Amino acid sequence: MTIRANILAMQGYAPGEQLNDPDVVKLNTNENPYPPSPRVFDAIREALTSNALRKYPQPLGDTFRRAAGRALNVDPDGILIGNGSDDILTILTRAFVPEGGLIASPTPSYILYKSLADIQGARFEAVPFAAKWELDVERWPRGAHLSFIPNPNSPSGTRVPLTHFVTLAQQLAPAPLVLDEAYADFADGHGLALVKHAPNLIVTRTLSKAYSLAGIRFGFAVARPEVVRELVKVKDSYNCDVLSLAAATAAIEDQDYFRDVRAKILATRERMRWALTDLGFEVTPSHANFLWCRRADRDVKPLYEVLKARKVLVRYMSYARGPDGAPEGAYTGLRITVGTDAEADKLLTELKAIL
Ligand SMILES: *Cc1c(COP(=O)(O)O)cnc(C)c1O
Repeated sequence: MTIRANILAMQGYAPGEQLNDPDVVKLNTNENPYPPSPRVFDAIREALTSNALRKYPQPLGDTFRRAAGRALNVDPDGILIGNGSDDILTILTRAFVPEGGLIASPTPSYILYKSLADIQGARFEAVPFAAKWELDVERWPRGAHLSFIPNPNSPSGTRVPLTHFVTLAQQLAPAPLVLDEAYADFADGHGLALVKHAPNLIVTRTLSKAYSLAGIRFGFAVARPEVVRELVKVKDSYNCDVLSLAAATAAIEDQDYFRDVRAKILATRERMRWALTDLGFEVTPSHANFLWCRRADRDVKPLYEVLKARKVLVRYMSYARGPDGAPEGAYTGLRITVGTDAEADKLLTELKAIL
């Protein structure tokens, strides 16, 4: 069979391991350790009628759009729904990037963007972060058809001040700049309001992390309504199903529950940060639900392996280079998701025993 050359040549995105062992403390893919809002279960039960399942879902998710518009203070017509925010990133790539076009994103960062470029037959440029994970907008390629920047960033958990995005959006206009806010729910600020000031700025969100719905697959983008009208042409007509729309709507409506879960995660994050620092890790201050942990004195890959054997799963990551100022060569570390307090205790106990 004749498969396109760019597909044959590409590696394919490797998602984090999903072990089917209930005893494993799973701190490797930034899932939420707490259950979703009880209202989510009610909403799914209510949606389980033959009449709802028999019919196609709302193509644009209007009920969700109204609920999210109210919860986040954005224009519902400026919301595009997706089957996970990864679906949104795919829609954006298809809409904006011609074959042979250029996608840019910072490095070290989310590696899915490179896979999207490969599938599209586009070029990809990784722009190194400056020292201390700052963004040097001067280095950004002028010809990028689409730019993706996660804020907070993964794996570092760091944030870039919003003013930089306004500057970069102006520099790139009319090409779009995508602010991937998968982790903004855990940070002190977000860029949703920037969409009003920068017509080429698009913000993406997910319900996988802060709303505990990774298994449901739901994400969305916030952009100008006239941009959303074009993006709608690119997506599958029914890209979100009845059950995920019901779940996502109930979750985003329950902002009190969201704030409670968030507060618990932030408290555990700070406790884990100091405990891991005491164990000899260099832990980057995080604005997300994970911690980026490095060691100057030893390779962390064996630590990942021994932790895994002891049923604690974290993410070992290796990049070709680090931000400016990092030592030359491969840049490695452990990205550890913030779990419950009990999960954090298990991690810390095992790490103490190993070290
Ligand atoms: C988890 C994550 C996403 C994707 O979330 P889904 O909605 O589950 O597809 C997007 N961007 C970044 C940076 C992420 O870490």
